[in-house]
Amino acid sequence: MKTVQTVTGPVSTDKLGSVLMHEHVVSSSMGIATHYPQFYLKNLEEVIEKDLLDCKAEGILTVADGTPVGLGRDVRLLKKFSEDTGVNIIATTGWWGMEPPYLGPSTDEQWAQCFIDDIRVGCDGTDIKAGFLKGAMDKEGPNPWNRKMHHAAAMASVETGVPIFLHTYCPTETPRHQLQFLLEAGAAPNKIEVGHILETVDLEFVKWIYDQGVWLGLERIPCQHFEGEYSVTTEHRIRFIKEILDAGMGDRVLFSHDLPITSTLFDNQSDEVKAYVEAQKPDHLLFIKKHVFPKLAEMGLDPDYLWNLTIENPRKFFEG
Ligand SMILES: [Zn+2]
Repeated sequence: MKTVQTVTGPVSTDKLGSVLMHEHVVSSSMGIATHYPQFYLKNLEEVIEKDLLDCKAEGILTVADGTPVGLGRDVRLLKKFSEDTGVNIIATTGWWGMEPPYLGPSTDEQWAQCFIDDIRVGCDGTDIKAGFLKGAMDKEGPNPWNRKMHHAAAMASVETGVPIFLHTYCPTETPRHQLQFLLEAGAAPNKIEVGHILETVDLEFVKWIYDQGVWLGLERIPCQHFEGEYSVTTEHRIRFIKEILDAGMGDRVLFSHDLPITSTLFDNQSDEVKAYVEAQKPDHLLFIKKHVFPKLAEMGLDPDYLWNLTIENPRKFFEG
């Protein structure tokens, strides 16, 4: 029996149900969870547990929380929410963000051991173990720090068998650099998910990523940018999913929104911004099921095929 490590212990891969592969249950900045939870929503528990229970009622039994330390990981809360709702939550190790100041020199091996400890011993002083590794690079492209973090994630994946997912920026060459870093440190392509695929419109580039033997994270939907930067509309993202599936890449796609249930980034914005963000995501973590899949069905895709992709592909991915 193959299992995935969740915040409440190992779960058999055939019990995961439909899986959202990259969401954020609680996210913030490093240290806020521990030291200044005053920035959290007052009704945090109520908001989060409602969204998780809505997922469960629709057959989404597992949520991978893509929140490592640099995004304010709080595994104690994740465990409580999982126990209260019965939804499996997978916690993340690896790295998102800049090099911590005042750390001094550190090696790939030291960081790999930190991630391995999160997977084998537990995160943040608890016995709650991580089941996913994150690598992150954005528009800035490669630098010595993110190279080190990708090497460390790859080494931890080789040592533990835990897969890696990538925060990336697909409109640029960023995914190529990340894959190079991971593969040169020995990571197995079938244990890598390149995320944020729906931020590009370049099918040829997506095919190149797919041809490396890795998985495609069809996520960043709905479009939720609010700072006026370039972004592909939600409608275009839906059409692009169809193009990807029509091009024969459906055997290695993983669906998710990358939509924070709560994040101090959004929760502390002005009422106007909060209302805008809220309007972009009707039904929250059910957006794909209730708003994306029906549109794809109108375009001719079989609803059962789409739903099965959210069950069978994560199972195969975690089984390696
Ligand atoms: Zn994310």
